[in-house]
Amino acid sequence: MRKKTLSIQCNQCGKEIFSYVKIGKGHVWHCWKKRILKDHSTRKGKQVLCNCGNLIGIDERVWIKLKQHHVYIE
Ligand SMILES: [Zn+2]
Repeated sequence: MRKKTLSIQCNQCGKEIFSYVKIGKGHVWHCWKKRILKDHSTRKGKQVLCNCGNLIGIDERVWIKLKQHHVYIE
């Protein structure tokens, strides 16, 4: 399987939220926590937020379910 590291960025301020190891092809709909290399998010309960306050996703225990329309840079 092909592995690559993505930078998942906030669609409001452009800052990196996660550095994430993606395996295989296709969209990233959720981020497995064990594949997150760097985590710059802040948490409010189950909500995963950027420092700017933008909602990035929801913590669902084993992964972060992302809202759509975030930017992924390889
Ligand atoms: Zn932001």
